[in-house]
Amino acid sequence: MILIEGIAASPGIAIGKTLLKKEENIEINKENITENEIENELEKLHSALDDAKESLEELRQDTAEKLGDEKAEIFAAHLMILDDPEVIPAFENKIKDDKLNAAAAVKSVVDQYAAMFAAMDDEYLRERGSDIKDVGMRVIKNLLGVNTISDQIEDNVVIIAEDLTPSDTAQLDTDKVLAFLTKEGSRTSHSAIMARSLGIPAVVGLGTELLEKAENGIEIIVDGNSGKIYFEPDQTTLDDYKVKLADYEAELERLLSYKDQKAASKDGYEVEVVGNMGNLADVDPILENGGEGVGLFRSEFLYMDRDQLPTEEEQFEVYKEVAEKMGERPVVIRTLDVGGDKDIPYLDFPAEMNPFLGYRAIRVCLERDDIFKPQLRALLRASNYGNLKIMFPMISSVRELLAAKSKLAEVKTELEKEGHKFNQNIEVGMMIEIPAAVMIADHLAKEVDFFSIGTNDLIQYTVAVDRTNEKIAKMHTPYHPAVLRLIKQTISAAHEAGIWVGMCGEAAGDELLLPFLLGAGLDEFSMSAVSILKIKEILSQWEKSEAESEVAEILALSTVAEVKDYLTKLKK
Ligand code: PEP
Ligand code: MG
Repeated sequence: MILIEGIAASPGIAIGKTLLKKEENIEINKENITENEIENELEKLHSALDDAKESLEELRQDTAEKLGDEKAEIFAAHLMILDDPEVIPAFENKIKDDKLNAAAAVKSVVDQYAAMFAAMDDEYLRERGSDIKDVGMRVIKNLLGVNTISDQIEDNVVIIAEDLTPSDTAQLDTDKVLAFLTKEGSRTSHSAIMARSLGIPAVVGLGTELLEKAENGIEIIVDGNSGKIYFEPDQTTLDDYKVKLADYEAELERLLSYKDQKAASKDGYEVEVVGNMGNLADVDPILENGGEGVGLFRSEFLYMDRDQLPTEEEQFEVYKEVAEKMGERPVVIRTLDVGGDKDIPYLDFPAEMNPFLGYRAIRVCLERDDIFKPQLRALLRASNYGNLKIMFPMISSVRELLAAKSKLAEVKTELEKEGHKFNQNIEVGMMIEIPAAVMIADHLAKEVDFFSIGTNDLIQYTVAVDRTNEKIAKMHTPYHPAVLRLIKQTISAAHEAGIWVGMCGEAAGDELLLPFLLGAGLDEFSMSAVSILKIKEILSQWEKSEAESEVAEILALSTVAEVKDYLTKLKK
């Protein structure tokens, strides 16, 4: 048995057989052709290009239906590569001038482009390099009559790959593919995001060990909850995991009974349990898991994977669709939170020494009407179609909040003049994710309708721990007594000012922390769809007053370990 650990990117457990998707080293024989063969090779090339376009168009439509328009955009980009006025003649010239056969011609051009992009510092452009490779491989496979990965898949397989391209991921048949593992990637890589949307377990960032140790067709266990994978597990581990898998499935089934139940404590104290989303495909899972709305729509995802700003109209369509799908349920849309680890390459911001402390989020928006105003206009116009609320990220001072509100007022006046309808009384809130904001929460609370605590950043700024650095990942914990005090302080300040307060950082879905948050008076808990049902269940096991009586005890503890211990003992 071999155990390897990686990054748990999508939860769940799978027991199956490995299917290795090795970097395709397709042999291209007899590369050189004679003068007489040129015409024939050009014909073959164009027919392979047409086939590739046809299958990409099918994929685009399929993906749009299964995962939403946004996820399908990548294939539109691939189609564009095949229509590129430079690329096609480059293929043809390799055949005509260098006398390469069609497959070798495509490979030579694609390798050239891919190498050029791979050498770039910019992550976005490097990704474009893999798009070109992806498209090129599709054409070459057509030329050589080689099957794609989806053709080789038998039942119950776990795909193992260096990295999966979005087209590979979208083509996976989830009836047959139990899970996937990649050498590269992070929780926010394309394929990880897709895995969560598809609802299959995934472990990524497994490193070179993965491909060294993996063999085709051997038994494997994937634990998407812990990030552990076991090749050829011994009988005890296998038996253990069979039980774990059955338990996990039974647990999911059992938790469904909370789907339509109002989130409330044992004694009927109601709170809201809602979902976090990044794009349209995340809406259905939130509803299927009993989410009572959206507590955080990270709008920046609309700005990624493209090469220019989304227009007001494009944004309006997306916000409107979410609002309509959610009906009366609340939907909190956060304005653009670019910067930190969320780079938007086409905005061309210079590299910074400390990007998390730098030019990001509201700081950018307040300086860039060309970015901020179209978004505010789109949000307001969409407010006509559902229960939308607007939230500003990274507020560190009253000045920033007032400036953001004044932009919103300006946009309202413009829309009114233009005769647009929108919700004049749309709720406006702000993220509490900077300790400075907690310290002046009483002032800030006078200016907004709600707060939402962003623990991911609040922890980072409070404990001075980079949230993306795996070396110090253990320090990034909501159990730090300082973080707990800041949370309590924020909730109290909000309630004193008569506004509601939610939490949309990962801590909102933390099972151990729930009694503390309930007792401290949190009104809304926003988390990824997969956590919603469990949190609803734990809530239903606690009486509000019982949770309240624990708060002072927890706040008196002095170390992370003590807090964790204490919370673990409270577990029901
Ligand atoms: C947070 O900081 O807790 C948060 C919810 O925002 P993000 O993770 O997008 O920075
Ligand atoms: Mg944040």
